[in-house]
Amino acid sequence: MTKPTHKTLTCDVLIVGGGPAGLATAQTLAPHAKTIVIHQDREIGKPVRTSGGTWVEDMEALGVPSHLYQQIDEILFRSDNRKVRQHLERRKCAVLDITGTYQWLAGLAHEAGADIYTDTKFLHTVETDDGFISEIRSRSIDATRIESQFIIDASGTPHAVLADLGLVDKPDRVGVGIEHEFEIKSADKNRAVLFVGQAVKSGYGWIFPAPNNHIRIGVGIIQPVSNLSPRDIYNAVVTPEFLESYGLELGPPVQVNAGIIPSVPYDPKLVFGNVIRVGDTANFATPTVGEGIRIAIKFGRILGERLSETLTQGCRSPLVRYELECRKALKRNYGFGFTANERIATYDADDWDKSLDRLARLDEDEVVSLVKSEFTLSMMIKAVGKQVRHKLFG
Ligand SMILES: Cc1cc2nc3c(=O)[nH]c(=O)nc-3n(C[C@H](O)[C@H](O)[C@H](O)COP(=O)(O)OP(=O)(O)OC[C@H]3O[C@@H](n4cnc5c(N)ncnc54)[C@H](O)[C@@H]3O)c2cc1C
Repeated sequence: MTKPTHKTLTCDVLIVGGGPAGLATAQTLAPHAKTIVIHQDREIGKPVRTSGGTWVEDMEALGVPSHLYQQIDEILFRSDNRKVRQHLERRKCAVLDITGTYQWLAGLAHEAGADIYTDTKFLHTVETDDGFISEIRSRSIDATRIESQFIIDASGTPHAVLADLGLVDKPDRVGVGIEHEFEIKSADKNRAVLFVGQAVKSGYGWIFPAPNNHIRIGVGIIQPVSNLSPRDIYNAVVTPEFLESYGLELGPPVQVNAGIIPSVPYDPKLVFGNVIRVGDTANFATPTVGEGIRIAIKFGRILGERLSETLTQGCRSPLVRYELECRKALKRNYGFGFTANERIATYDADDWDKSLDRLARLDEDEVVSLVKSEFTLSMMIKAVGKQVRHKLFG
């Protein structure tokens, strides 16, 4: 990458945030428009702020190479007094090598022609007649300003651009998680665990075997529903007895990963004039388990295509289509999922035991749909029926 010497850079589209959403957008946009991605961290994919659980079917559809994920054949769901094993015959889970995957995405964006500047933070923008003049602070380039016609806010939870322009409020309800990554001495590398109940009130914990003989153990909670710290919960939960109960022998610690994700209702408004949002800034992560990587990549690529069409055709209708495509795929499921999220955030141990009893009656497709927030009509009818019965008969 050549180091620009001008104080002001110019481009068609400035993408703020080099996470999966920003990088995927750059991949499909850069062949058609001069694209700059700025990313505040020193490296793409480091530090890790996510746990990387996803699905083999989606990784294959998105073309993610298989060496970047660990395949999972079984999910063990555990509450205080119940265990439910779901063998995954056809619809396997996967756990990503996050740094490797995000750097692979950056490689695709770079090959497509995008300039990616790390250690470069978006500070502030001003709208002009021709677009935007954005102030940046960078340790990797000399520039202090970037002029662009469009800005994509792919900054995740900070909503850096939208908040700066006063276009949306930052989320007041968030998922906060911490995870410790270790080398594995001994573990079932094809089994993921999701645990719920008293110890992780308003959230859940996970054990994810990852590529490179690593394992991630973490907890996440919803704030302000809970005012506890995930770190304290992790320390209280992950004891030698806990590890023994899952047959885990850990090797040396690798790193600690921590992150924050919006946990608010899906808002279909994605286009604000020439500022567009994607990924966590657009609340694309699933309301059930907060899984957002595959969705950020998929709709990031779609946004890149639609914005290319807008720029080459000189009309805004492709951007309207971007909003509609996202709305069609997400709005109904996420509305339903968010209602479920609000309910389960208040569950006690008994509620979770009953919930796992219901889970045990579902088949593989239904369990996968539930975790992915892809609800079938019959699942919705059953859930609404249950709520009505609860209201009528207590
Ligand atoms: C604890 C936790 C566990 C999770 N587990 C999973 C999981 O198992 N599976 C899954 O699919 N999803 C998971 N998620 C969600 C997933 O991480 C997100 O949905 C996904 O990262 C969204 O991608 P993004 O590109 O929109 O945002 P991000 O990944 O947040 O990327 C945005 C980037 O923008 C950068 N940035 C922010 N502000 C600025 C600025 N001012 N200037 C320049 N750069 C800036 C940030 O440094 C950041 O790296 C988890 C989230 C958390 C918090």
